[in-house]
This record gives sequence, C-alpha cells and structure tokens, in this order.
Amino acid sequence: MKACLLRSPAPVETNPLQFTDAPDPRPGPSEILVRVKKCGVCRTDLHVVEGELPPRKSPVIPGHQIVGVVEKLGQSARRFAPGARVGIAWLHRTDQTCEYCCAGMENLCDNPMFTGYTVDGGYAECAVAPEDFVYEIPQNFPDDQAAPLLCAGIIGFRSLRLSGIERGGRLAFYGFGAAAHVAIQVARHWGAEVYACTRGAKHQQLALQLGAVWAGEAAAEPPAKLDAAIIFAPAGELVPAALKGLKKGGVLVLGGIHMSPIPSFDYDLLYQERMIRSVANNTRKDGEDFLRVAAEIPVRTQVTVFPLREANRALNDLKSDRINGAAVLDCTR
Ligand SMILES: [Zn+2]
Ligand SMILES: [Zn+2]
Repeated sequence: MKACLLRSPAPVETNPLQFTDAPDPRPGPSEILVRVKKCGVCRTDLHVVEGELPPRKSPVIPGHQIVGVVEKLGQSARRFAPGARVGIAWLHRTDQTCEYCCAGMENLCDNPMFTGYTVDGGYAECAVAPEDFVYEIPQNFPDDQAAPLLCAGIIGFRSLRLSGIERGGRLAFYGFGAAAHVAIQVARHWGAEVYACTRGAKHQQLALQLGAVWAGEAAAEPPAKLDAAIIFAPAGELVPAALKGLKKGGVLVLGGIHMSPIPSFDYDLLYQERMIRSVANNTRKDGEDFLRVAAEIPVRTQVTVFPLREANRALNDLKSDRINGAAVLDCTR
C-alpha cells in the first residue's frame, strides 16, 4: 500500500513525512483490516510529527480520524461484515484490566495504545484496528465530513461534558479550529451561549457563522462573565486570560494533548472555586454518544481535502492557521 511514513520527528516545514510504499497491515485475530477512504488531520498529528510527543514507534504512520470500509476480518472478528463503513479513532486499544479501565475510565488506561502514534494510523491506504474499538459511522455523513468527527468531534464533546455547561449557560472557546467548529454546534444544540476567542478574522468569522454571539482575538476578554471555557489552542499563556473571564465557580477545560508552559498567575484568578481540568483521550462511550448526537443535530463539518501524498502540505497549512474548519486526507488517490 501507499502510506506517509514518519521516520524521525522534525519541523513540518521540512516536510518530514515520506509518501512511499509500505507493507499491507495484517489484521490480528480480533482485528479488522480497513481500506481507508478519508483520514482527518488533527493537531495531535502535528505534535507527533514535530516530536512534542516523544516518539513511541518508528517509523510510524500518523493519523487517527480514519473513515473506511472493512476489507478483511481477523480469525475471530465478528462484529462487522466486509463492506461495512467504519471509523478508527485515537484510542486504539486499552488493556481492560488496569484500575482505570475497571472503573469505567478507559480514557485514563495505564497501558493504552494510540492510533497513529504507538501503532500505525490512517495516513495510508489501509489500517487495522481491534473490532471492539471501531465505530459505526452514521449514514448521514459523507466520508470527508465524518473524518473530523472522530477526534476533533469526540474530544470536543468530552470537553463540553467536563465543562458542565448547561442550557442558558455562557461558554467560551479559546482557539477556533477543527474541534471548536464542531463543539459549538453541540453547545448551541444544548442551548448554551457561545463566545469565541481566536487568532485571525477567518476563524472569528466562522465562529459567528456557526452561531457565536461574540468573537474576538485569542487573549481578548469576552464581554460577559462565563460559566465555562475550553482552551483548544496549545497555548499555555491563554490559561490566565481564560480564568479572568470566568464567573465564580466557573470551569476551565484544557482540551489539548500538549500545551506550551502555563505562566504563573495570582491566586485570585483561581480563588472563588474556579476549576481547571485537562481532558485526556476519551472513552468509547463518549465516542458513541457523540456520533449519535452529531447525527441528530446534524453537525456539519467544514473540510479542506488534500490528496494523501500531500499530507505535509496539510500539516503546514494547519500549523500556520490556514485551515478553516478541518483538514482531511483523501487516501484513495
Ligand atoms: Zn486500562
Ligand atoms: Zn486528534
């Protein structure tokens, strides 16, 4: 198969992904082989490619928002029939035996495997995954629209859940990329009032189009006090800015897997029972719940599609804020 291989992490400006031939993956007994149609490009891929996340497999094929069709079943795989359309996401597998898995918190598993990081992912024509960790994709989403739901969408959804936002509540997003442009649709569906703090007029415009009541620069202070805020941008300096905008008892959720250092700030910003919490991965239930809600709303994703061989260009565009909505690779050409 054709695939984009990362041999060693490097700045994306040096185009570190190599479009090349790679051996076809083979499904293990309870796994399925998927013919990849589309694979979403996530900021986490950027952190993998540039080495902000320490290398765990080398070389590795990035990509963890895979939409494709089941091509082959492992010996004991029963859940899907060949030809079924499925999604493979970041949480590739958990051990199901650690204290976190046993307590229903598999997102915090002690021995997790991650698609496109500790195992090969979807910047390729084929990928394998354990059938139990694969999602059914609701009918109403075309492949390219569905791809960004699988991480940007699911992580945004978990971030919303952890924010505790309720009907009539005020919520701010810091950074308005792939995750926020989906999460805002869910937040509005739940009846929240949304504020967007993000760099660049294009992202602000998209936020307003999607129903934000206000949009301003990344560290701007929204014109109303907030019940909750979610930082999707990987910028630690936004933490004090976001705390400043919260009401007493407000919740600040950090939605990214990597963030630049958080500067020190006065205790006053946190006092009055404000909370800061991070989001790590997701449970399969988050994913299933989100896909159901996304189909009900229905969520619309704005995507820019690149051919698989141009994955480096997609990552460069993501890094320099040139993607409005989400970038997606077409892995069939
Ligand atoms: Zn576990
Ligand atoms: Zn992701």
